[in-house]
Amino acid sequence: MIKRSASGLDRRTLLAAMGAGGGALLSSATSTVALAQASDAGAPVEEPKGPPASAGVAAQAVDKWKDPILRISHEVWQNAELSLNEIVSHQIHIRELEAAGFTITSRGTSGVPTAFIAEWKQGTGGPLVGYLPEYDALPGLGNAAEPRQTPGPKGVEVGHGCGHNMLGAGCTGAAFALKEMMQAAGTPGTIRVYGCAAEEVEGAKVYMARDNLFADLDAALAWHPAPLAGTGVVRLAAVDMLKVKFHGRTAHAGNTPWDGRSALKAAEMFGVGVQMMREHLQSTTRLHYIYEAAGQAPNIIPDFAQVWIMVRDIDRPKVGSITEWVKQVAEGAAMATQTRAELDLFFGMHDLLPNEPLARHLLRHIQAVPLEWTAEEQEFAKACQREMKLPETGMAPQPLPFLTDVNAGGSTDVGDVSYQAPTAIFAWPTMPLGVSLHTWPVTACGGMSIGDKGSLNTARIMAAAGYDLMTDAELRKAARADFDKRRGDAPFVSPLPPERKQPLGLDRFFIKTGEDEQFADIAS
Ligand SMILES: [Zn+2]
Repeated sequence: MIKRSASGLDRRTLLAAMGAGGGALLSSATSTVALAQASDAGAPVEEPKGPPASAGVAAQAVDKWKDPILRISHEVWQNAELSLNEIVSHQIHIRELEAAGFTITSRGTSGVPTAFIAEWKQGTGGPLVGYLPEYDALPGLGNAAEPRQTPGPKGVEVGHGCGHNMLGAGCTGAAFALKEMMQAAGTPGTIRVYGCAAEEVEGAKVYMARDNLFADLDAALAWHPAPLAGTGVVRLAAVDMLKVKFHGRTAHAGNTPWDGRSALKAAEMFGVGVQMMREHLQSTTRLHYIYEAAGQAPNIIPDFAQVWIMVRDIDRPKVGSITEWVKQVAEGAAMATQTRAELDLFFGMHDLLPNEPLARHLLRHIQAVPLEWTAEEQEFAKACQREMKLPETGMAPQPLPFLTDVNAGGSTDVGDVSYQAPTAIFAWPTMPLGVSLHTWPVTACGGMSIGDKGSLNTARIMAAAGYDLMTDAELRKAARADFDKRRGDAPFVSPLPPERKQPLGLDRFFIKTGEDEQFADIAS
């Protein structure tokens, strides 16, 4: 339901989208309470400054690179692949980047086989701007480019229900257009494109950040598909992910239950213990878990049970202290049931550190791009809304005002980037108002002209902002000062455990072969 507030359209859906990163994290992520508060706070109305001069030049550059940008969006949409398996999708980006004159400086980056880095450089000593394309899809969200739930080109199994086909095309497309602009003006500088695999699960950015691969950037720019357009000072949550395994002893549940020790009972007690924590947690803490293994049959005492739990809060220290408590609860549950607990903290992410000067600058470029929709697009959007039983309000008519000082419950792996370099992220509409991410209409709209507009317009916004960062020392200085102020002096500590060299969910053939030339064969 789209609610109108003092500042125009409700900001909830936008924030949900900005907290969309982090895959499993993302859709479930955003706290309704926090967002409701944010929505009621009311943002100050910005004085329109008008677009910087680079806006028009960027629009022309994107026009020139329209075909490769849309090729990326369309091909990645058609070849929708799950996180950590984006074999074809990451090669599509690499192919187009190489064709555009970029050098691939890293493949299988930081232990993630489908991650990569590409670079283009002109002159010496210029600034360094990074873009963060993603390209993984989601299970169960395949859909045709039609305004109804219907199987897509590869059945209903996998689809771009988070819009990463457009996200990737916009980011890589911005790099093409920025190169064009810098060549025309003779601007010195380096453009770096990070192939950010597996955003929906164990995001590659976290692995790259552990290797300090963002630390030399002057700025990183990214966007996420959403029902709305906007940006602001929005902070997203830090997170830890743990697998809690209980080992017991099996026995016949009817004949000799006293010989067994149930791992399931330990897991149940762990769940109860986590609920007992809640009264003593602050409202910013989120704890959510699933039972991944809980026995095979009721007449066998289960000797193994597994819980996947996520801990979120507004920063790493807060998450760390809650995680310690969760571990104690697991040990306590094991002790009480005479089983053994095994804890694997396999992944974590930083909170997203906003950057006010960069976000304010991005908003000027967002406002420079008209939100125009054809009658057919509005009809398509309304048909999706009808199917989803939402008000038939069509597509977003205008960007939101600047959002200020919001803490949302969702997470993104852009967070780890934001602790290494000034980082700005914005939302752009690629789905009808009221539609949430991780649903079939996102896949449907991403495969037609609404999605194409998303890829091209966001490339325009980020190419223009990238050009300003390359040429405006004052903007870079302001972004750096805001970064230093928010980040403080604490050294960067990766949330990944040192012994984890590659994502837990990586398929075995990737781990066996390791290098990307091996899986080139698998893709063909
Ligand atoms: Zn996403």
